[in-house]
Amino acid sequence: MSGFRERFITFILIAVVTGVLLATMGIVATLAFYVVALLLLVIHHWRQLTILDRWLQAEESASIALPDSSGKWGDVFARLTRLIQNQRKSYQQISSALERLRRATSAMPEGVVIMDEIDHIEWCNPVAERHLGIDSNRDAGQHISHLVRQTQFAEYLAAHSYSEPLIIKQSRNQGLTLSLQFVPYGDKQKLLISRDITRLERVQTMRRDFVANVSHELRTPLTVIGGFLETLSEEDSPDTETNKWAVALMTDQTRRMQRLVEDLLTLSRLEDTENLVREGNINIPEMLRELYHEAQSLSAGRHRIHLKLDTGAKLLGSMDELRSAFSNLVSNAIRYTADGGNITLRWTVHEEQGVFSVQDSGIGIEPEHIPRLTERFYRVDRGRSRVTGGTGLGLAIVKHVLTCHQATLEIVSEPGKGSCFSARFPATLLIMQTGDSP
Ligand code: ADP
Repeated sequence: MSGFRERFITFILIAVVTGVLLATMGIVATLAFYVVALLLLVIHHWRQLTILDRWLQAEESASIALPDSSGKWGDVFARLTRLIQNQRKSYQQISSALERLRRATSAMPEGVVIMDEIDHIEWCNPVAERHLGIDSNRDAGQHISHLVRQTQFAEYLAAHSYSEPLIIKQSRNQGLTLSLQFVPYGDKQKLLISRDITRLERVQTMRRDFVANVSHELRTPLTVIGGFLETLSEEDSPDTETNKWAVALMTDQTRRMQRLVEDLLTLSRLEDTENLVREGNINIPEMLRELYHEAQSLSAGRHRIHLKLDTGAKLLGSMDELRSAFSNLVSNAIRYTADGGNITLRWTVHEEQGVFSVQDSGIGIEPEHIPRLTERFYRVDRGRSRVTGGTGLGLAIVKHVLTCHQATLEIVSEPGKGSCFSARFPATLLIMQTGDSP
């Protein structure tokens, strides 16, 4: 509204001045007057533009005060000043927020490395510098694998599967054990989080050592007592019946403890083996024939036991560990199958994987127990497990052995109908024999 009034007044003013000039000085003088007036106007605008140009070129534009200008130019300069001041303010806010974030990340107990989409280091905090031996300023722009040189790390980075952390021992930093994990974010960028788990590792080693030591300490006296009781049970004494009953009970308990110790030792040994000990080509069919005979003597004719060898394939792995895992599955089938039941041991190749399965027509397992069966000391029926001589560690051992062999355990079971436990080995560990179909 004010703009319109301004324009209207200007128009009236020009009309009146033109009228007065025409009436007093004639047309030529009036035109000359307007030419001079226009020239002055152009000079004024050109001057203002030059001031604006110089002001914009100055480095700290907003801090240089503008010369006083009136009219439209004054408005334009005032608006520009406000705009630049606002921009500076938000820039400062963003910078201080970034600084706060950087300080917070630096204070974190974990190491943080920010990497771009091609795994080059952008920034890292002091903890990561200490953990990984890198320098945020010197090494920015370097590929992470040039600085963390362990082969496992390169493999972990290339695998693109970061759900589980990678545990490495830092050779540069004596005795430092690190848990490293990539966290993808944004557009293919990654964070590398490093944690010092040296203490945790030490505690776990202590726990494993404790089990191993206790088991070793227990094994010898138990063997002696077991032997002594066996001798006693063969001797005649006045109160023969009671003595025999007590001795039988003690012998039974001793055996149970021996089995427990054996299982604890096996587990402790397996936990110490981080990777598969590839002892060689294990002749699985031969091993299963032996296990079949052992199963028959364990069952003592109470079950119908079958052995199906569909393939002669061998396995790359550890003989003792595989034998212990397979034997646990077979003895479970015998222990949890009523007399007269069927048990089938089978070695086959399915979808290029080697599959060892033990199928029984036993008591079966309720579905809710299946995911927990491989936990240590987890039993569906504690009483039954004890009566049949179980330690509650059999399937935990099986799981460990299979994990060491990159194999998986599959359990299919129906209460009252039976169970099938299958160990599936990857094709990479399978050694096919001539005549075997792949
Ligand atoms: P345990 O020494 O008690 O048998 P395991 O770890 O070998 O310990 O097995 C854990 C539990 O899984 C057992 O207590 C039992 O309840 C169940 N289980 C294992 N195998 C079978 C099977 N073939 N049939 C039914 N239940 C089974």
